[in-house]
Amino acid sequence: MEEAMDASLHTDDCLEWPHFLKNGYGQLKSSVHSSRKAHRVLLELYLGRSIAEGKVVMHICDNKSCINPRHLKEGTQAENVRDYLEKRHDNMERA
Ligand SMILES: [Zn+2]
Repeated sequence: MEEAMDASLHTDDCLEWPHFLKNGYGQLKSSVHSSRKAHRVLLELYLGRSIAEGKVVMHICDNKSCINPRHLKEGTQAENVRDYLEKRHDNMERA
């Protein structure tokens, strides 16, 4: 985990989680905690605090397996949906 954190400080590119993926998301396997989404844990490390209750971690880069905390932001589920719809709308206009 620290290695991934370290790598993220030296690149603006997407960092794809090299381990276990579930539904396209990086997943942490741990005996202590139930499996957690890797990008969420990375953002918590980056921010130095926990993601607020009820908040989701959004990918700015739209790459679900990306764990670069610079590509992640804390948001609400409503923002996440709006973001998704806006991007989909953009894609339709470009098509
Ligand atoms: Zn990314």
